[in-house]
Amino acid sequence: MALKERITSTDKIRSWTDQIPFHYEYTAGVAGERFLRGLQEGKVLASECVSCGKLQLPPKAYCVDCFAQTKRYRRVGPEGTVAALTRSSVGFEGERLPRPQAFVYVTFEGVVGGVVHRALGDGVEIGSKVAPRFKAQGKRTGSMLDIEGFAKA
Ligand SMILES: [Zn+2]
Repeated sequence: MALKERITSTDKIRSWTDQIPFHYEYTAGVAGERFLRGLQEGKVLASECVSCGKLQLPPKAYCVDCFAQTKRYRRVGPEGTVAALTRSSVGFEGERLPRPQAFVYVTFEGVVGGVVHRALGDGVEIGSKVAPRFKAQGKRTGSMLDIEGFAKA
């Protein structure tokens, strides 16, 4: 009865809040899973094309140049270079941070692509040589957050 009243008196309805119980689970894919397992082992892994040798980060299942399947993975770094940097004064929930957090895009020699993550410590600038700081081995879960951030090497 209440629903019928709502439908017949639409002039009073402006909006309502409800929930639709959807649940999604996505896999990381073949190359993504290998990358995440590498992080759990304390390694940054790039995919290596078996045809042209191109190294890609994050790893891809196929080479973007010759479309060959990439079945090999190679450890890169640990030292990389800060190719881009930004600072944020606002957190992920919109809150004002007590001090700005720097985020860096780190590239590795001979590798196409890179990794975006937090900068740790002071003095990290564009061009800085940095290395990932991993969580303690027992605390890693196969997540990008197995890396706490990148600090000056
Ligand atoms: Zn290739």
